[in-house]
Amino acid sequence: MTESIAERDKKVTWHPFTHQKDAAYPLHIVRGEGAYLIDDAGKKYIDAFSSWWVNLHGHANPYIAEKIFEQAKTLEQVAFSDFTHLQAVTLAERLLEHLPPNQRKIFYSDNGSTAIEVALKMAIQYHYNKRAPKRKIIAFENGYHGDTFGSMSVAERNVFNTPFSSFLFDPIFIPIPVKGKEYSSFEKLEAALKDKDVCAFIFEPLVQGAGGMVMYEAEQLEKILKLCKGYSCITIADEVMTGFGRTGKFLATDYISEKPDIICLSKGITGGFMPLGVTSCAGFIYEAFVSQDKTKTFYHGHSYTANPIACAAANASLDLLEKAATRKQIEIISSFFTQLQHKYANHPAISNSRKLGTILALELKSPEGTFYLNEMGKKVGTFFLQRGIIVRPLGNILYFIPPYCISKAQLEKLEKCTDELLSVIDNL
Ligand SMILES: *Cc1c(COP(=O)(O)O)cnc(C)c1O
Repeated sequence: MTESIAERDKKVTWHPFTHQKDAAYPLHIVRGEGAYLIDDAGKKYIDAFSSWWVNLHGHANPYIAEKIFEQAKTLEQVAFSDFTHLQAVTLAERLLEHLPPNQRKIFYSDNGSTAIEVALKMAIQYHYNKRAPKRKIIAFENGYHGDTFGSMSVAERNVFNTPFSSFLFDPIFIPIPVKGKEYSSFEKLEAALKDKDVCAFIFEPLVQGAGGMVMYEAEQLEKILKLCKGYSCITIADEVMTGFGRTGKFLATDYISEKPDIICLSKGITGGFMPLGVTSCAGFIYEAFVSQDKTKTFYHGHSYTANPIACAAANASLDLLEKAATRKQIEIISSFFTQLQHKYANHPAISNSRKLGTILALELKSPEGTFYLNEMGKKVGTFFLQRGIIVRPLGNILYFIPPYCISKAQLEKLEKCTDELLSVIDNL
């Protein structure tokens, strides 16, 4: 008997975020088409979590695939110091058109975590270059910013980073301004800002993704950013998950008028085809690096910085995102989720429901309480998988964040399966 791909996988690979002992065989996916992923038995699954929040226009989108193919035949890679190329320049110009007017420069890297590292290093070196170094970073409790050391440092301390905790630097954590905590969030922020040593404030705008799709009001974020500006604290918006239309606008910070100084993008940037990270910054930050003095140079880069194929994928994804039909789809998903949120809001099995744009989160009541390792997540995931839907609950928080190409019928299938889950949840 020939071994299956899943059996061969078990022998040679080590999967991310996966408890290895007694791990189930991974599902062998052979193909993708629109909102569907298709396994080796030909079974179709709706990808209701957009393959970890990266896919925007569906799997194996032929338009993006064609643009990647063309680019690969033309120029696959060139170092991005001393050299440039059409795709990187075009993408930077187009991104700056979508970003707030205070954003002036685009710095490329490889993924969300590196986009965060770049942002933190820019903020730290900005003060260093100004000859007034500052050491403290402010961050929200319950945040997630990636898995490299800097990004782990500014995130909530939990089971993910416990082994490394003594190697991480310590930010000042402040509460998220969710309902009832607005005042303490504000108060703690102000106390922190009064310290002359504050370098920057980093935050996930309006939605904390990995922290459980926790949402807070734009009005609160507006106040927080205004306060930071009053103390000349550099603000860093981690839009890695929320960017590219996820929240109903291009950026989550498009819901507010006070603009961040630095913005981090990744995940949806290439429509889910290629790894790519972007850190954009305001003019005053960039200016602090422009000097005769070579010690003021930003000595940071990655081998694949601004890879032409990744940039071509991002330009193609933007072509699709800018279409009126895509914006319409985002609105359709958004209003469908508003209806679902209302429908489930008072359900006895649900303790909280929240929604912003194309993100719907349902917090399932659980005796174990709310935390990532809650066993309920696995059971709910399996329940949906058996019915042809891929979800990846964060503990007891079930959420949907589908590709924008998802059809009405596919959305209705998510609803039907949720109804069914809620009717049997006590015996799951
Ligand atoms: C996923 C994520 C990151 C990290 O991105 P990677 O590409 O996985 O390194 C950072 N910030 C937020 C808000 C994210 O959701």
